[in-house]
Amino acid sequence: MSSAFDFEPKPRRASVAVDVGGVIVGGGAPVAVQSMTNTDTADVDATVAQVAALYRAGSELVRITVDRDESAAAVPKIRERLLRLGMDVPLVGDFHYIGHKLLADHPACAEALAKYRINPGNVGFKDKKDKQFAEIIEMAMRYDKPVRIGVNWGSLDQELLTRLMDDNKADGSPMTAQQVTRETIVQSALISAELAEELGLPRNRIILSAKVSGVQDLIAVYAMLASRSDHALHLGLTEAGMGTKGIVASSASLGILMQQGIGDTIRISLTPEPGGDRTREVQVAQELLQVMGFRQFVPVVAACPGCGRTTSTVFQELAQKIEEDIRASMPVWREKYPGVEALKVAVMGCIVNGPGESKHADIGISLPGTGETPAAPVFVDGQKAMTLRGPKIAEEFQLLVSDYIEK
Ligand code: SF4
Repeated sequence: MSSAFDFEPKPRRASVAVDVGGVIVGGGAPVAVQSMTNTDTADVDATVAQVAALYRAGSELVRITVDRDESAAAVPKIRERLLRLGMDVPLVGDFHYIGHKLLADHPACAEALAKYRINPGNVGFKDKKDKQFAEIIEMAMRYDKPVRIGVNWGSLDQELLTRLMDDNKADGSPMTAQQVTRETIVQSALISAELAEELGLPRNRIILSAKVSGVQDLIAVYAMLASRSDHALHLGLTEAGMGTKGIVASSASLGILMQQGIGDTIRISLTPEPGGDRTREVQVAQELLQVMGFRQFVPVVAACPGCGRTTSTVFQELAQKIEEDIRASMPVWREKYPGVEALKVAVMGCIVNGPGESKHADIGISLPGTGETPAAPVFVDGQKAMTLRGPKIAEEFQLLVSDYIEK
């Protein structure tokens, strides 16, 4: 018989820990948050600015595109500029087709990067003699860098797919075309990892990913990978989409996998809206880990949804402002006040649940709803500490929150 216990998160799947420029991925380390720039890497100023923004937002690893000589030449300059800004953020080079050549021709790039991402779909892996694959693995060994073998079904190895399709047909088609595709993705990652190890790359230098764009496919593919290897796994739904759809699809798939103990680092790939903020994907990744109780990044701001009892938008605006202020202050607070991320702030719309929720928070306010006295009780550490009145309730509460955190 099932019990409530069955719904608890499963223990983390045992995986081999990989050191990526000082950030440990796998081996039970906290699930790392990562993201990727969308600047032209050859544009050093723009790339430094975006990596810095992603790092400040909380991205623990940042991937950059290395697609040609100009971008490879820019990588050491980007790394140097970031270090001068005090940002020792591990940079991951995203290579396709000619990564082996770029790494060989640009040793400073090979050195500056903390990890190389390679795609078995476009550097061959058919046998050990495959030059491109062997060369990139040799570079990783020479510079003592880990690699991520990142399969993506948009660039899946067609030869392997055809072979598995033919094998399936010869066996009387026990698998559907969708199942064969999933199997191809998984095998592509596993065969490449095996070859990398045969070439001499240690197991603790290999991370695997297998990105697809469908939620059910992603869950199936990672469940298969997790059961057939102990490599650290990078999770991400590719082409997740824009806005709400991308956030929901990524959260649904990654949330289910992490609940099963699968996943050592995550990236939420959101298509940026025109002029949109690239750091949003970092915020979504952090929030996903935080709401599931796996990591704590920022103090929680609990706010009620509001209803007909709320007379104005004051409380929604206050909750939003408080959340934005806290997030903006976190880079400084994190260093100054260790443990600050465990705090809880409540902003509630009326007396029904306001005082109760506020008492459960470290600091909370219950704003006056329809027909209530225009007064807002504030609770600190579970006790009513004061009542705010007048037109400046929001500003005064914001100051109280800052004071509380600083104390
Ligand atoms: Fe509505 Fe009050 Fe509940 Fe907020 S706390 S949702 S305003 S009843």
